[in-house]
Amino acid sequence: MSKGILVDLSLCIGCESCMEACRQVNNLKPTKERRLSPDNYVIVEEIPGEGYYRHACMHCEHPTCVSVCPVAAFEKTPLGPVIWHGDKCMGCRYCLQACPFQIPTYEWHNPVPAVRKCTMCYDRVAAGGQPGCTEACPTGAILFGERKDLISEAERRLGDEPGKYVPHIYGLREVGGTSLLYISHVPFEKIPFLARNLKTEEPLPELTWRVLSKLPNVVGFGGVFLFGVYWIINRRIQLERLAQEQEKEAAKEVIEEVPLADQDQQE
Ligand code: SF4
Ligand code: SF4
Repeated sequence: MSKGILVDLSLCIGCESCMEACRQVNNLKPTKERRLSPDNYVIVEEIPGEGYYRHACMHCEHPTCVSVCPVAAFEKTPLGPVIWHGDKCMGCRYCLQACPFQIPTYEWHNPVPAVRKCTMCYDRVAAGGQPGCTEACPTGAILFGERKDLISEAERRLGDEPGKYVPHIYGLREVGGTSLLYISHVPFEKIPFLARNLKTEEPLPELTWRVLSKLPNVVGFGGVFLFGVYWIINRRIQLERLAQEQEKEAAKEVIEEVPLADQDQQE
């Protein structure tokens, strides 16, 4: 059964409780940045004079980040969330380029960089729970559940109040469908990250591979392969160094504690 999130923009009051909950659940550093970043998996943005929208990974049904990754570091899980495996990633950053919603971010300044984005709190979902953001939302503007049930709920809301909503469920068909579904009182054309894919119903991986299949692949994939080998080796060396430094720090702490213990005994 595939899970999803229904976002009802008419109910969002811009309180940012979802951003704060995300930060706590994922141990993200506090930041004043107003854009997606390694420390911001979700941001709430204003639609001037008309409300707010939530900007985060759409957990596509046919994710381009998955199809474009040469080493299968991205995975569309059977539960719905799209997740990233750090042990497989070779740092080519194709996923950043390929995402139709410009979601994944990269830790450019970290010596052991990672690709970062919302995981729909996969660990919590896999354990039978719900994402931190949906749990925290005080107005029910973001609702977690089975995707098919959320579609029924969205249809019910549109049917019950036709004058209130734009008659469209975003994510039902866009880019081949997404696990995040949006209904809105504001035209989707006014929501920049959704607007650019409003007219694309075909799964984007198919479009991507149609383009890639026309390119001479020796140069492209040869380059990516060599860079990938370099990146993986470099990453392993850096991880080993980090582990060694942590071991040294731990050993230092133990040594520093011994004289104190001796002093206690003498007293
Ligand atoms: S929105 Fe982008 S990062 Fe998220 S699943 Fe779709 S392609 Fe991947
Ligand atoms: S917690 Fe709910 S109401 Fe508050 S900003 Fe997020 S989606 Fe909007």
